Amino acid sequence: MKKYTEEELLPLSLIQHLLFCKRRAALVQIEGLWEDNLFTIEGTHLHQKVDDDLPPESRGDLRLTRGLMLHSFKLGLFGKADVVEFHRVIENEADSRSISGGKAAAIPLVGVSGLWRPYPVDYKRGRMRHEEGFEAQLCAQALCLEEMLCVAVPEGALYYGKPRRRLAVVFDDALREKTQEAARRLHELVDSGHTPQARYEKKCESCSMLSVCMPKVTGSHRRVQGYMAKALTQD
Ligand code: SF4
Repeated sequence: MKKYTEEELLPLSLIQHLLFCKRRAALVQIEGLWEDNLFTIEGTHLHQKVDDDLPPESRGDLRLTRGLMLHSFKLGLFGKADVVEFHRVIENEADSRSISGGKAAAIPLVGVSGLWRPYPVDYKRGRMRHEEGFEAQLCAQALCLEEMLCVAVPEGALYYGKPRRRLAVVFDDALREKTQEAARRLHELVDSGHTPQARYEKKCESCSMLSVCMPKVTGSHRRVQGYMAKALTQD
């Protein structure tokens, strides 16, 4: 399997952009553009509130860390986790021999007894919903943790700000494959240096890049080009 160098690592947040719209990922990473809208401002505000809304860092069988830096040389990604919880899963130290797919089932933490399993939690604005980009981005965080800590991370959660509820996400084989594929496509896109043509769709109305992307204008431009090519051929 290919391993990326430190210089080649791309922001993990691009996975979500790519799965929403390839052009959006290119506008952000290749062209260095970013536009906030109401949704992204609310999202940023929610991330800033993470510290206020969460329980204390140590509670019984739960430990948590905020803003943990993550990376994966296999995926070629780096980023920051909103929250990584550590759940105590095995009391008996001898069970640390339990191995899942070449990784430990749980790991020891400094200063506390027992073995602990990481559980990433990503904060999202709005109502609770399944979105493949959100789930793949969370899965990318899990794959980073697995690579960094050599421990299995089978599940995490998306925390939605409006209902203040969690949606558990299981990192099954299908989601892992989708995430790895998205990371490969992201590197291909960035390496190509080419920003794909816009195509107006319903989702564009909620996209913060709408005003800089102008999909209706560039889309119609493409239709004009097509019309001209056809007319010239007929002539
Ligand atoms: S406005 Fe539409 S085409 Fe443009 S980046 Fe956003 S989703 Fe993609």
